[in-house]
Amino acid sequence: MNQELYIHNSLTRNREKFEPLNPPHVGLYVCGPTVYGDAHLGHARPAITFDLLFRYLTHIGCKVRYVRNITDVGHLENDADAGEDKIAKKARLEQLEPMEVVQHFTNRYHHNMEQLNVLSPSIEPRASGHIIEQIQIVQKIIDAGFAYESNGSVYFDLEEYAKKYPYGQLSGRVLEDQDSQTRELDGQNEKRFPLDFALWKKAAPEHIMRWPSPWSDGFPGWHLECTAMSTRYLGETFDIHGGGMDLLFPHHECEIAQSAAALGHESVRYWMHNNMITINGQKMGKSLGNFITLNEFFAGTHPTLEKDYSPMAVRFFILQAHYRSTVDFSNEALQASEKGLQRLMTGIQTLDKLKPSEKSTIALDNIEQKCYQAMNDDLNSPIVIAHLFDGLRIINLVHDGKETLSETDLEQLKRTYHNFAFDILGLKDEKNQNQMELVNGLVNHILEIRQQAKANKDFATSDKIRNMLTELGIEVKDRKDGAEWSIK
Ligand code: ZN
Repeated sequence: MNQELYIHNSLTRNREKFEPLNPPHVGLYVCGPTVYGDAHLGHARPAITFDLLFRYLTHIGCKVRYVRNITDVGHLENDADAGEDKIAKKARLEQLEPMEVVQHFTNRYHHNMEQLNVLSPSIEPRASGHIIEQIQIVQKIIDAGFAYESNGSVYFDLEEYAKKYPYGQLSGRVLEDQDSQTRELDGQNEKRFPLDFALWKKAAPEHIMRWPSPWSDGFPGWHLECTAMSTRYLGETFDIHGGGMDLLFPHHECEIAQSAAALGHESVRYWMHNNMITINGQKMGKSLGNFITLNEFFAGTHPTLEKDYSPMAVRFFILQAHYRSTVDFSNEALQASEKGLQRLMTGIQTLDKLKPSEKSTIALDNIEQKCYQAMNDDLNSPIVIAHLFDGLRIINLVHDGKETLSETDLEQLKRTYHNFAFDILGLKDEKNQNQMELVNGLVNHILEIRQQAKANKDFATSDKIRNMLTELGIEVKDRKDGAEWSIK
């Protein structure tokens, strides 16, 4: 690691220096989506937040093993211990095999992530592929005395656990408070204490997704998969666990309890949580009619949207807020982001064309160092973006011939913009990319016409086309089987 990175640890609520357990290796686990529908903004934010972390850790020399799971079983409606499995319900409504639902929405999720330029994790395990590991953890927790079997299901014994371990560290909740808040739910009578949560659920006869276990034919509880898969791929103690703030309770609180009960110690050294997204000041929710999927954003098809917004506009918008702040989506805010992104990309195009001079007449103002400082301060992406905007003034002054930059300074400036805008913030110059695709298409068509002219022995036209392209800076090389071209 060639930088000193500080991050906010949600467990201690402190800003802490990040020190990997086994440098330069870093273990990073992030809770991925439950794949029963299209990804929406609520999925984009954690994906982009932890992509930023993954990219930055890699940039500063860490070898990151990034595990982001796919939940394909055990996540019940209302995130509770009763109700239908979200995937099984979708499968029933669509008359599909549950794994067809999983595959379909996993593919669509991957496509959206690619559009947002979110890098693939190192490992993307599925809950249903790790049933054996989950059963083993349930057995360990039973053996340690922190779980009990009841009617074929197994529940975590919170009262027993709280006698030995601190409960509620992450969420700040205490058991007594929650006792009264718990509603009487189906299956509640199997529990000794209302807040005990399921580690294993006996499947009802109509339940499709089921596996054999020592207790019953059934399925794992939702919180269990992350404990099983993080331990499997990152070990009993690992560096960073991330996710959205909505997962803090009960999901992550239960994960902590499961690890401590099964292993005798907590697994995670740093917990990181991204804040939530609101739309026009309101929480997102299906009943509020503001549940906008990413595909709807990119196509502009939701009634809330005045127009379509490109994936990079959405990414840039999310990065313009610190990950621990809330973000409020509105058409005005998104359009402002779109303009800002375009200004930044145009600035970088100008920068790439600048030529060095003998010496610099303007100082770079430590912009590179300032960007690193901002990232080292708990991934402060909005400050990085502000520094990049500030630097555009220098680029424009040099471009207008009012100031000059030496070769060393120009190289440093280019390195700063390319590292931070593209490698770390993960932005792409969409417009430039689209234009390049257009140029490719046009030149190929023109060369086809030239080939035809040559075939017809119309060398005048063929030469004319070649000269015209040369004038535009496109070099054409004739080969046996057609022509190759490149931009000079
Ligand atoms: Zn999880």
